[in-house]
Amino acid sequence: MAKLEEIFGSNVFNDSVMQQRLPKDTYKALKKTIDQGRSLDPQVAAIVAHAMKDWAIERGVTHYTHWFQPLTGITAEKHDSFITPKEGGAMIQTFSGKELVQGESDASSFPSGGLRSTFEARGYTAWDPTSYAFIKDGVLCIPTAFCSWGGEALDQKTPLLRSMEAISRQAVRVLKLFGRNDVSRVTTTVGPEQEYFLIDRKLYDQRKDLIFTGRTLFGAKPPKGQELEDHYFGSIKPRVQAFMTELDEELWKLGVLSKTEHNEVAPAQHEMAPIFAIANVAADHNQLTMDMMKKVAERHGLVCLLAEKPFAGVNGSGKHNNWSMCTDTGYNLLEPGDSPHESAQFLLFLTAVIKAVDDYQDLLRISVASAGNDHRLGANEAPPAIISMFLGDELTAIIKSLITGSEYHGAEKTMMTIGVHVLPKFPRDTTDRNRTSPFAFTGNKFEFRSLGASASISECNTVLNTIVAESLRQFADRLEAASDFQAELHDLIVSEIKAHKRIIFNGNGYSAEWVEEAQRRGLMNLKSTVDALPRMIQQKNIDVFRIHHVYTETEIHSRYEIRLENYTKVLNIEAETALMMARKEILPAVIRFSGDVARSALKVRSLSADLSTASEEKLLKALTRGTDLLSERIDALQAAISGFDRSAGAYDAAAYEHDVVIPAMEAVRAAADELEVITEKSYWPFPTYSDLLFNV
Ligand code: ADP
Ligand code: MG
Repeated sequence: MAKLEEIFGSNVFNDSVMQQRLPKDTYKALKKTIDQGRSLDPQVAAIVAHAMKDWAIERGVTHYTHWFQPLTGITAEKHDSFITPKEGGAMIQTFSGKELVQGESDASSFPSGGLRSTFEARGYTAWDPTSYAFIKDGVLCIPTAFCSWGGEALDQKTPLLRSMEAISRQAVRVLKLFGRNDVSRVTTTVGPEQEYFLIDRKLYDQRKDLIFTGRTLFGAKPPKGQELEDHYFGSIKPRVQAFMTELDEELWKLGVLSKTEHNEVAPAQHEMAPIFAIANVAADHNQLTMDMMKKVAERHGLVCLLAEKPFAGVNGSGKHNNWSMCTDTGYNLLEPGDSPHESAQFLLFLTAVIKAVDDYQDLLRISVASAGNDHRLGANEAPPAIISMFLGDELTAIIKSLITGSEYHGAEKTMMTIGVHVLPKFPRDTTDRNRTSPFAFTGNKFEFRSLGASASISECNTVLNTIVAESLRQFADRLEAASDFQAELHDLIVSEIKAHKRIIFNGNGYSAEWVEEAQRRGLMNLKSTVDALPRMIQQKNIDVFRIHHVYTETEIHSRYEIRLENYTKVLNIEAETALMMARKEILPAVIRFSGDVARSALKVRSLSADLSTASEEKLLKALTRGTDLLSERIDALQAAISGFDRSAGAYDAAAYEHDVVIPAMEAVRAAADELEVITEKSYWPFPTYSDLLFNV
């Protein structure tokens, strides 16, 4: 491997490349656009495009693409070459400012939730200059937003960028009240930790469920699972190590700050954590990370599974979204601070988050809802579906002392007064972190832990930014009107924490008692995607997005439809796959085995009537009983699939999958898994859990 310094960012048209390659004025103009969100002069764009093209061609690139994130959850690209014909049959390579800034996309096949009917198939992509262009697989990729000609967002990035504007606007207002006139922008920072499984390619190829759905739909528990917890942080096997080394190298070339790689709890499960970045860049980088994980795995004869729950009975994969707010002067607003002034400011921002999470539990829940993630949330391996916040004992005690006006029993006994006292130093929770909490304060940031592994992080950060912007907006309105800022600040923090303290929970989120306690507190428990999604279109939720110009009402409705349709499609594919495997692979295999057992019993008996065939008969009884059950349940699943009403509305269709198809699928699985345990291994039609989980 070449020197890391040479590798890092070598495929990125980043700030230092721009500084080197752009004329001074152009660089300055572009920088202004990037740092202050100004719009870009077309002449500047033309010069940037030219420089980008030359830089890319030097690296062997022939094509460019507008790289965007449609609502399919993954990224999309359409490659165009730089070729332009010249007289006399020759050609030159060009890339114009217009081609850089805007692309037209015949995107009729991307989900739009009725926003763009297929006959007006064009959408357009627009350059996001705040995220650097990069070279991936020999193609110059321009990060872009994707919109309809009517201006409606058709992607994940546009709302995220809008929400970043919203939170910046309100946070700057609040900071002005604290006399911080030097701050002109506040950005949200995000560090997503990514979990994944690696399995052997040859075994993967033998399983239709993995191929079609990304997760196993059948599989009895192996004799050894994760109970010994010997995989977590265990030594990394050579093949996986080789994968990780190459993954790091590929990511570093793309400027992704891949930092930590380790084994996770489940066998064959691993994690990668990058160093945090600005939210939209983090979102781009996380998409690149998932993309690269899949590609690099292929090169090592492996497959990277990003499904939330690829294997029943062992932990699934999530994504931890570490989130904070940072000023353009480099100050982390969730850092408790060393002066009374900073402490007060920290408490106000903390209160804003507490209020936001309580007021919009449903939006946070929705932002992580998917068919795949339904298997994880609340399954005692990931946070429950109930949204609550962990603040840790120290911070909770401080808050309690504030709202009750009682002494805080820290190192020194003091009565905490906002604006007068410095917050006592409380330990950064690193050791006894509460893994069961969906939303935990971890010293100077929040960690939202409910995301599924395959999710785009854009959506939850869009929600987080917007709802915190709304708290800050209300706070700024109140504080700007106050005659005595200090007194009003104190009252505001105390009254808001009192009003929202129910959302704070430091206990065990996996326990049954918490479910009851949460209900007493009036917290929401939106168990499944189908339970959660309808709340998207509640008036208060539409309003918060509308007020902050993040989504229009039409955009929310279209996204609601898309999410429901996606759920229905995923489940339909799973059900069809389960049916096919049960009917065409499992049932015939077990019948073949029963036949052989029966033949061998006959053979034994034909030798002598004295010989016992009790064990054969016992096994046969179990096998035939099992196949009868399986066959019945296959019919029931078939009936469930056929009973689907195609004319039903999007919600009814999703609810049908949830209420009727899932139980039918689970019943087929249960019967099949029982048969797997008693069927001789060589008859079983595809690799088992033991094969898949312990073979890399
Ligand atoms: P761990 O959770 O393993 O103890 P850290 O707490 O250091 O590790 O970081 C976890 C993730 O949080 C990393 O991706 C890190 O870059 C990110 N992170 C750290 N500080 C911030 C911040 N201010 N804003 C957003 N993410 C952050
Ligand atoms: Mg963490």
